[in-house]
Amino acid sequence: MSAGDSPEPAASAREAAGTPSPSAAMRIDVLTIFPDWFAGPADVSLLGRAASDGTLDLRVHDLRDWTTDRHRSVDDAPYGGGAGMVMRPDVWFAAAESVWNDLPPAATVGRDGPPPGAAHTVGGERPRTVLLTPRGMPLTQRLAAELAAEPRLVLCCGRYEGIDERVHEQVATDEVSLGDFVLLGGEVAAAALVEAVVRLLPGVVGNEASPWDESFSDGLLEYPHYTRPARLRGLDVPEVLRSGDHGRVAAWRAEQAELLTRRRRPDLLGG
Ligand code: SAM
Repeated sequence: MSAGDSPEPAASAREAAGTPSPSAAMRIDVLTIFPDWFAGPADVSLLGRAASDGTLDLRVHDLRDWTTDRHRSVDDAPYGGGAGMVMRPDVWFAAAESVWNDLPPAATVGRDGPPPGAAHTVGGERPRTVLLTPRGMPLTQRLAAELAAEPRLVLCCGRYEGIDERVHEQVATDEVSLGDFVLLGGEVAAAALVEAVVRLLPGVVGNEASPWDESFSDGLLEYPHYTRPARLRGLDVPEVLRSGDHGRVAAWRAEQAELLTRRRRPDLLGG
């Protein structure tokens, strides 16, 4: 829906969706063994603008900065045998306590316990920390809105067979899945989560109302959009949209949203 078409102010759309108000500015830390992966997406489009105007403080960290050996290993063989390698909990614990507490890697690397005086500790009080995993809760618009209300997020991207279970239990506050499929790593899922959350921050999408007035915000898929030309290769824009009658347009859109949702996603209607 275009910004000017919004039938409701942003606050009431949010309240209708039962979601908290988003933060004005947000810091997101990403832990990954492929920090370069984020170099492109973070710099372009509205994400890049959010970063340059201070709405988003995105910090991408190389997990290997918390390794202890000269090969910078982050993985080891699984207990109990089996194919593939598992990401090491000692590296993840050190990285998490370093990033949570804004300490350099040297302050936590190789430690068998939290750094002295740390406010945020493994298994203790910690910022909202999302581990991306196919075993997590599905990433939904509702969850994105909930996360957008946090001042700070830490995102953990797994690779290989996944991450030692103690990291799931003691580092993550949330486990989130992009969908019922298996990716090579958590980076794509983390990037999707960043986009879904950041576009809900005030000012990121031109008009404040528009990100709250889309598919899923009101439990339905959105109605179809059209722009000029009115006729293209014999295909006409529906007459009602060209009528100038706002009441008829609103009724048509509501009907189309309902029809589309019933046809494609009856689960959203509880069916
Ligand atoms: N062995 C794991 C399993 O069967 O659940 C899959 C590991 S996957 C190859 C490696 C990493 O990719 C995971 O640790 C996770 O971070 C990420 N990943 C894969 N699929 C994902 C999904 N659907 N949503 C979020 N993260 C995913």
